[in-house]
Amino acid sequence: MKKRGLTLTEIIFAISLLGILLLIIVPSYGRIRQRVELKACVTNMRMILGAAQLYILENPEEEHVTVDKLVKAGLLPQVPVCPSLKSPKGGYYEIVDEPNRPLDVICIHLHGKGHGSLRQIIAGSESEGSK
Ligand SMILES: [Zn+2]
Repeated sequence: MKKRGLTLTEIIFAISLLGILLLIIVPSYGRIRQRVELKACVTNMRMILGAAQLYILENPEEEHVTVDKLVKAGLLPQVPVCPSLKSPKGGYYEIVDEPNRPLDVICIHLHGKGHGSLRQIIAGSESEGSK
């Protein structure tokens, strides 16, 4: 009686087919993950900007608004952290509150470049949408 099994050629073919599938799936998964991370980060920045605007309205005499002040004032439930996996220890947010400049929030990663300024991200997505 002849034993039925896979030949070496069949095994090599199956492994190379799996390799090709992985080559297609892995990069697109990475791009999708990056887009989701950016959206979550922008949501954090919008929440901080809204809280900062409210804080400035309630405390017009305060000089510099920080995320910590917003948490202490109860306007944010906790200090938000950027969800990017590129920065394993997370990223933090800074509020740009300078005269003659609109209020802005910046994402800074502990390692490498952060997502940047909320106003620039919004301006970039608006110009992309009008193309
Ligand atoms: Zn971020």
